[in-house]
This record gives sequence, C-alpha cells and structure tokens, in this order.
Amino acid sequence: MEKVNDIAGVTQLVRDARANGRSIALVPTMGFLHPGHGSLIARARAEAGYVVVSIFVNPAQFGPSEDYRDYPRDLDRDTRLAADAGADLIFSPSPEEMYPRGYDTFVEVPDLSAVLCGASRPGHFRGVATVVLKLLNIVRPDVAFFGQKDAQQLLVIRRLVADLNVPGRIVAAPTVREPDGLAMSSRNAYLDPEQRRAAPAIYRALQAGEAAIGEGERDPEAVVAVMRGVLAGEPLLRPDYVAAVDAATLRRPPLLSGRVLLAVAARLGRAKLIDNLALDVAPDIVRRITL
Ligand code: AMP
Repeated sequence: MEKVNDIAGVTQLVRDARANGRSIALVPTMGFLHPGHGSLIARARAEAGYVVVSIFVNPAQFGPSEDYRDYPRDLDRDTRLAADAGADLIFSPSPEEMYPRGYDTFVEVPDLSAVLCGASRPGHFRGVATVVLKLLNIVRPDVAFFGQKDAQQLLVIRRLVADLNVPGRIVAAPTVREPDGLAMSSRNAYLDPEQRRAAPAIYRALQAGEAAIGEGERDPEAVVAVMRGVLAGEPLLRPDYVAAVDAATLRRPPLLSGRVLLAVAARLGRAKLIDNLALDVAPDIVRRITL
C-alpha cells in the first residue's frame, strides 16, 4: 500500500493503475477508521482493481462551534487498518492542499440539505458536497463507496453526481454496528463509559419505530412518538431530531409507504450521534433496505 499527500501524486498513481487495466474505487473518509470504514474498503477491494482511501478531516463541513479541532485523528493506525482491509493507496491531503489560498468555489444541494442534520448544521452539506466533488474529480473513480450510516450525505452525493453528470457509480453500504446495536462512528471515541452505556438507546428507538410500522402504524407522527418514548428513557441522551420521512425527499409524508427513512440525531455529552434505518413499507410487509 502506498501513501500520498499531494493531488499530483494521487493523480499519477491512479493514472498508472488505470494504464495497467485496473478499475478504480474511492472510499472517502475522515479517518480514525473503524470496522464500518473497513467494510466499505473491503467492498471496494471486491469490486475494483485499485482501491483509494482518502483520509481528510474537511474543515469546510464543520461549523465554527463544532469539533473540527477535536475530531480524532490517528494516521498510523488508519494506515494499518486500511492496508488490512485491502486499500492500495491512502490519500491524506493537508487542508492547504485541498483549499489553497484563493479557494472560492462551493457546490450546494439546497433542498436535500435543508432538513435533518442540515437544519442544525448550516453549511455542513455544502462542505460535504464540495469536498466529495473535489475527491471525485481528483481520483475519477469508476465506483465510490458511502455508508448508509450517513443517509442524508449519501442522498446529497447521489443528487450531486446525477445533477452535475459526474461519471462513476455511487454504491451505498449497510451500517456496521457494535454488538449492542450502536452504529460504529469515529465520534464514539468521545463517549465516557456511562454515555457509552446510554448510546444504544438510539438504535433501540429506531427498532421500536420499525416494530410499530411492522404492526401496521402508518402515521409518521405516531412512529416518531414511539421513537421519542424510547429515547426519553435515557436521560443522558438529548435528541436533536427524530424523523420518519420519505427516503427520497427526506420530507414527512402524510402516511408512511414505500421507501421510508427512520432517523435520529442525539447529543450525548459532547458527542452528536446519528443513526437511521431504511425500510421498504408495503401494505403487509416491512423490510429493511440499503438505500
Ligand atoms: P466518516 O469518516 O465518518 O466521514 O465516514 C466515511 C464513510 O464511512 C462514510 O461514507 C460513512 O457513511 C461511512 N461509515 C461511517 N460509519 C459507518 C458504519 N458504522 N457503517 C458503515 N459505514 C460507515
């Protein structure tokens, strides 16, 4: 496995791999890798000849009062994990390499970015869309992998790629969880032992929402009330949003049917955790899907 920090270096290595007949996969990450990232890298390894993992804590997607400076970083550990999962190249640019002096271009996907995480993080998805478009332009992958854990991000990127005719496929991978259901996240490192014990209530709330729909509930507000009830049992958790929405528009439909996203964001100490379940809701059967 190789490591480069500069755009010219990654461009050259990708060009060489392509010249050798290898297809190119990209797995964008912010580092502090865990098995969730590992599953994306392994999937990329299975589908492409040359796997690029980018590691970049993107300042453009953090608000002024958010955790950009505190975000956990460990490039040596990430290097081992990425190599074990099957990466061929780690691209870990500096902020200056990605946003040199005079940088002035941003892309926005305003409708999908206005709700859920976007409502409390103005500018977040503008930063995400911009950095992902830059990474796609730098690497020009045949296929890029994203986790459903960040479902809104996935939708924003799919919209961006379709609207701007960006070549390459976008593939979503299911959320990897701890044994107690907590979605793996680099930000779980912020949790103290008591908070860590409280955290799986987020997944339990999603499961309760899923069960209510399975029992026939189709009113989104009633499903949200069920999920809020579970979260209320864990006083350490402070919900930011609890939603039962159409999985394409992220808006609340009058009744739940078709592709539905149950989504929760909650603060736990200084961590803000998010999780979701995507469901296909038919009249008499409800099943989990990957978006
Ligand atoms: P991040 O480093 O948190 O920006 O995540 C990089 C990529 O890994 C994104 O596409 C995430 O959706 C994905 N990811 C993060 N956590 C998980 C998880 N628990 N399971 C699957 N994918 C994940």
